[in-house]
Amino acid sequence: MGLGRFGGGVGATRWLHRQGARVLVTDLDTADALRDSIDELADCPVDYRLGEHRESDLDDADLVVVSPAVPKNRSPFFRAARARGVAWTTEINLFLERCPARVVGVTGSGGKSTTAAMVDAILRHATKDAPHAGTCYLGGNIGRSLLGDIEGMTPNDTVVLELSSFQLEDLPHIARRPDVAVYVSAWPNHLDRHLTYESYLDCKLNMIRDAAPEIAVVVGVDEPKARSLIESTARANKLRISPARDANPEVELNVPGAHNAHNARCAGAAARSLGIRDADIRAGLASFTGLPHRLQFVRRLAGVDYYDDSKATSTGATLMALRAFHQPVIALIGGQRRDGSQQTLVAALCKCARMVICFGDVGGDVFRDLQPHRRADEAQAFACVSTLEDAVTAAHRAATFGDVVLLSPGFPSYDAFANYERRGRAFASRVAELG
Ligand code: ADP
Repeated sequence: MGLGRFGGGVGATRWLHRQGARVLVTDLDTADALRDSIDELADCPVDYRLGEHRESDLDDADLVVVSPAVPKNRSPFFRAARARGVAWTTEINLFLERCPARVVGVTGSGGKSTTAAMVDAILRHATKDAPHAGTCYLGGNIGRSLLGDIEGMTPNDTVVLELSSFQLEDLPHIARRPDVAVYVSAWPNHLDRHLTYESYLDCKLNMIRDAAPEIAVVVGVDEPKARSLIESTARANKLRISPARDANPEVELNVPGAHNAHNARCAGAAARSLGIRDADIRAGLASFTGLPHRLQFVRRLAGVDYYDDSKATSTGATLMALRAFHQPVIALIGGQRRDGSQQTLVAALCKCARMVICFGDVGGDVFRDLQPHRRADEAQAFACVSTLEDAVTAAHRAATFGDVVLLSPGFPSYDAFANYERRGRAFASRVAELG
């Protein structure tokens, strides 16, 4: 129930089929919207019911595997399955129940993917010349189901699993917990689904609730409410608490910003609790060059550094990116218009950017809102163009030695691109043509 576009539904479908199950994939989205996932399953003979759920499909169902994206308490189809007493589970629970490897679970409101990928980079570095050290796997919310890898896994291997609140929601239904639980950050998020901050945190706490005492918890969270809930749950279960604060002090990172230094401390603390040496932690972190579209370094041209932060679709993410640089920044801002005020974004741009180039559907609005905040110094400039490609051209013309050109758009991409990845790729390919 719920194929989705992020790998979990495809992984579960393929794995269930391999176990000999007859699989019906049902999703409220249409085949068109799910094209990429359906294409990935081209060699997997399963039935589809798309664009709707039909209750009669439950008539001979033995098990419903529910996507984490389904709001279960508001779904009539899921309610019907429960009323009929059909067993149900999730892709993550299927995986965790069977996974023989050690598991590092990484969650948070921001920084999950980056921290998970940093732990993976450390593990890869630490095990690369050790033939008996086992294999490292990275998956979960980061876009890859690891169900298909289970057969080859052994207790000597390590799995790094990025876990969202939705994926953690149903963890209480199984006994298995991650062996190391990493909490990177917390603030109210996804409240359209969870309704309150408390119930959002409640899902996150499932990662360590009823956990066995040998489990280690890395607490990177600063927000006091979440921090105290995590620590009290950990203490109640006598878990080892590892503060992220003291980990790996003098590491040279290739990813900018205080938030990435924080993510690296969380990753370092997780690696330490797995027994990895500090020298390997430092070298592993130094080898990490960033995830695509998250303040990713693209190119240096004539002393100007180009960064792709296309994943920044909110004001908060763009503020974080602006704070990450000490150099003068030319910021590319724009995308799909959305409700709400842009005043916080506009104020931050005026404070931190030497030039702002607005583009896309919302570009004209941002350009207009910038005007009253213009700094008195002559050096600041604003421009408004129609497309992202034009914005790159304008930035290239305006940039001088030592500048950073930063795509951290602050708005979703859907005015002109299928998703933020495509927008990031369009930016990088336009940047590659410059010169
Ligand atoms: P997630 O997987 O939780 O969405 P990512 O690691 O993919 O997080 O980072 C996405 C964006 O979130 C980054 O581009 C940055 O703007 C922001 N971010 C990353 N790390 C942190 C952090 N530790 N605290 C707050 N925001 C962060």
